[in-house]
Amino acid sequence: MTRLGAIILLIIVVVGVGFASMLSFGGVPTRVSRSADETVVAPSSASDGAGLSVPVAGVRREALHDSWGEAREGGERGHQGIDIMAPGGTPVIATADGWIEKLFESGRGGTTLYQRSADGRWVYYYAHLAGYASGLREGLRVGRGQLLGYVGDSGNAGAGNYHLHFGLSRMGAGERWWQGESVDPYPLLARPRSGR
Ligand SMILES: [Zn+2]
Repeated sequence: MTRLGAIILLIIVVVGVGFASMLSFGGVPTRVSRSADETVVAPSSASDGAGLSVPVAGVRREALHDSWGEAREGGERGHQGIDIMAPGGTPVIATADGWIEKLFESGRGGTTLYQRSADGRWVYYYAHLAGYASGLREGLRVGRGQLLGYVGDSGNAGAGNYHLHFGLSRMGAGERWWQGESVDPYPLLARPRSGR
């Protein structure tokens, strides 16, 4: 009887200690490592943190105006990109290395171009173009500074309101040109590239 009682007491103690250790150690370490992962994925990591070139020839970084989030179409949606004012016909150039993913004609954007970054994680969007550079086609690799097209007023820019609308999207695995999450490109355009 006393031996059986001792065994039962031992079982209660072992189960109790095991349950207490689950409560004190479970969950906490995994939550810490998860938040550390989130810190790594930040907008500043675009193009290896090297920044982007201003995609309109002759426009200086200092001349850019951050128009992200400004009211558009009667305030129904925030502006998702930056408008870079320039005379019609001014060369539009690649903001970074990558390839042409899509040439697309849309009501809002007019003549548009979607460029994928070299690492595949970003899409650069050029809108209201007057036209494309000759020989440009989907799948073509382009280098930073390469001629893509010309500043225009196509789509809903408004006749004579010549500017480039430039957008930046962070792309998830397997996402295509119309997907992704819009990010303000201004900080990456306004900050000079390191090393050049
Ligand atoms: Zn715009």
